[in-house]
Amino acid sequence: MLRVVPSFDRIGDENAFAVLARAAALAAQGRDVVNLGIGQPDFPTPAHIVEAGIKALRDGHHGYTPAVGIPPLREAVARDIHRRHGVEVSPDAVMVVPGGKVTMFMAILMFGAPGAEILYPDPGFPIYRSMIEFTGATPVPVPIREDNGFAFSAEETLALLTERTRLLIVNSPANPTGGVTPKAEVDALVEGLAAHPGVAVLSDEIYGTMTYDGEAHVSLLAYPGIRDRLIYLDGASKTYAMTGWRLGWSVWPKPLHDAARKLAVNSFSCVNAATQWAGIAALDGPQDDVAAMVAAFDRRRRLVVEGLNRLPNVSCVTPKGAFYAFPNVARTGWKAKALATALLDEAGVAVIGGPDFGIHGEGYLRLSYANSAENIARALDRMRQFLSERA
Ligand code: PLP
Repeated sequence: MLRVVPSFDRIGDENAFAVLARAAALAAQGRDVVNLGIGQPDFPTPAHIVEAGIKALRDGHHGYTPAVGIPPLREAVARDIHRRHGVEVSPDAVMVVPGGKVTMFMAILMFGAPGAEILYPDPGFPIYRSMIEFTGATPVPVPIREDNGFAFSAEETLALLTERTRLLIVNSPANPTGGVTPKAEVDALVEGLAAHPGVAVLSDEIYGTMTYDGEAHVSLLAYPGIRDRLIYLDGASKTYAMTGWRLGWSVWPKPLHDAARKLAVNSFSCVNAATQWAGIAALDGPQDDVAAMVAAFDRRRRLVVEGLNRLPNVSCVTPKGAFYAFPNVARTGWKAKALATALLDEAGVAVIGGPDFGIHGEGYLRLSYANSAENIARALDRMRQFLSERA
């Protein structure tokens, strides 16, 4: 019998993909399903970016590129960071990867091993915990709380650090909650980390362009005190509606950058060349499409939050970032995952149960409002009807 090594028994999954497949299967049977499950913009990639990708193919960019990415893209990433965060980063510190996930995969592989502890947000992106468990390290969930506006708490995070902690993962604006951590909390975290110089930090800022109500995104790159142990994760998937192109980038301290380069050489070799040229057009080109998408998400955010708060026994804090709402459904009497399954099978609305994002996700659902206002209204109507009949 074939026997895969035991670490594969510990690797997890991302249920959003399973829900996407189930929603597609129901739609193929003729069912009308509104999909608020998957976290991807419903907009097409802006036309000038698509054209740049096509041009790159026509211009003959068909071969391998450097494993760390083509120099003009690494320079464009450094310019983007300077423009958005006011921070100088050397293009040499930038690594181009096939999607934001690959940065977290690399960082967790670098620090995860039996005996090590890795702190990660809970509820949080499910791949953090999955990868930590895969490496044999101990996952230490940092609770992300509704009564804290779903921001991470510096105090609670720092209290969980031990001499075995090797990596701390933070994510703001956050998936699945839409929480944005305010500057005071980030300041306090960085200050506290000074006493723990052996802890690396992975800052997942993939939703950094999406904040609302005047809330500012605070990048950890802006803190010189932790730059020598900070891994900054960003990418094109969400900001430029490019989930299928597979383009991410990260900034690494020097020794870690070389380790990341070796992981690339040993696995994917490089990001596909045309995608990298499209990435330059995304970062250096006009940003109007990004502004228009964020404005649309903002309008839909209001619709979704207002609608959710009118549902029986449901309450929803107003998310300040990303494109997710994380309503509290504990008072409906349903377990969150059972409710998500019933909503899909019986009401034709795809959402994700909070427990798919961690132990602290029980009692919540995640709705992605990266969908049209019309579909959001239809989903809320169906949820209202379902909950009125089945509560
Ligand atoms: N980080 C967070 C918090 C995410 O929500 C996602 C995607 O959903 C990613 C990273 C990964 O993005 P990518 O599709 O670029 O791999």
